[in-house]
Amino acid sequence: MTHTVIRGARLVDGHADILIRGDTIAEVGNFQVPPDAREISARGKLLHPGLVNAHMHGHGNLAKGTGDRWTLELLLTAGPWITGNRSLEDKYLSTLIGAAEMLMKGCTACYDLMAEFPTPSAEGLEAVARAYQDAGMRAVVAPMVADLSFFEAIPGLMEALPPALQKEVERLRFAPYPTTLENMRKALHGWKFDRDHIRPAVAPTIPLHCRDEFMVGCANLAREYGAGMQTHLSESKVQAVAGLGKYGKSLAAHLDGLGLIGPDFTAAHGIWLDDEDMKRLGARGASVAHNPGSNMRLGSGIADMRRMLECGVNVGIGTDGASSSDNLNMYEAMRIASFASKVRGPDWQRWITTREVLEAATAGSARALGFGDKLGRLAPGYKADIVFLDLDNVNWIPLNNAVNALVHTEDGSAVHSVMVAGRMVVENRRLVNLDLAKLARDAEGARERLERLNRDNKALYERLEPIVGTFCPALAKAPLHINRYAAWP
Ligand SMILES: [Zn+2]
Repeated sequence: MTHTVIRGARLVDGHADILIRGDTIAEVGNFQVPPDAREISARGKLLHPGLVNAHMHGHGNLAKGTGDRWTLELLLTAGPWITGNRSLEDKYLSTLIGAAEMLMKGCTACYDLMAEFPTPSAEGLEAVARAYQDAGMRAVVAPMVADLSFFEAIPGLMEALPPALQKEVERLRFAPYPTTLENMRKALHGWKFDRDHIRPAVAPTIPLHCRDEFMVGCANLAREYGAGMQTHLSESKVQAVAGLGKYGKSLAAHLDGLGLIGPDFTAAHGIWLDDEDMKRLGARGASVAHNPGSNMRLGSGIADMRRMLECGVNVGIGTDGASSSDNLNMYEAMRIASFASKVRGPDWQRWITTREVLEAATAGSARALGFGDKLGRLAPGYKADIVFLDLDNVNWIPLNNAVNALVHTEDGSAVHSVMVAGRMVVENRRLVNLDLAKLARDAEGARERLERLNRDNKALYERLEPIVGTFCPALAKAPLHINRYAAWP
């Protein structure tokens, strides 16, 4: 077993040396250094546990920066344009771009809800997992699946389209759900990656987009293979209204009725959860992946993280995909999480503290990924996933309060080195395992080709935009029967 000793580190709370045995932190503080230990000097550096991104989409990276004024519903309408016609190489490449960005910005693990149309494939999942492996990053890789298209999922939307457009969106149908369940089973069964680094999960994308039998099938599959499950829950008011109409109760109450909510369940967003929903999630030991940047960008609202914590919900922080954020910068996600809690109202004692944000973006997210006992802390027994920040960087001049600066000041530009499992994956600001120049060339080639291949899908989006863009906001004007939502007027 190899030993590494990190000397002279400044941690968020105080100073300490760190001893790493293999891929795990063995000691923090004062200890006997084994004679064979390799030494790393951390003088002038601040060390923090690798940030953990609780919700993102690897397929979004090739679509980064494509759109501007998109609601969630317009983003879903744009899906075939911005992520259509992807080859296996594109899936690998798109994931790799995200892995490169996250590592360079201090994030060492993520929960990736990756999409393939019309159904996931074992090869697609493997390509995505391989990208994380090649980059040297940890990930939970979850095929994001549906059996109803967006147009079938929103009541009345299909009927609002002229017949010619109805015909065109028919080709956006997903595979029947038994096929998708079978494909996911194949992928879970043949998983060949070390589950300590890259593990599979299951992600029925949005409850309204999945028949109940399908949601239950996903949950059963997850349980059978000891995998987690994540879904976008009450992300937009359109969903909350449509859910009440379809199920006669909130989306969370409906999923709970199906027996889907437990400690391995993560709800992404949760902006339109009501008080009962939050209590329900808390009582079941479930997690919420809070994505405040994406929630603002899509105009979805501002989730009530304080109330979630009070209800005992485990809260992690995510960036969401690069097509709705449009970066994967966890420092920025932390900063916005703090700021978002503060614009909810003047009662400052209910605001989220920087300490709580940092806890959510490390230990909270780690628990949502199913790595709660292994990631998110610099403590004995935890994996050696460590970010080294340069204290000479202007962000840290001067250093008054490390937690405040980490959440409110740091933007990723002070990241000097990043260690995953005891090995450097970013060293002196350079990716150890990836060639960014090659990544740029490959991405430009893919971008050009996909732009060509998706020309018709873009034209279809342009015809749909005025209809979806008026139908959905009108639907969201409907008053919610239960008057406990505080997310947005
Ligand atoms: Zn998402």
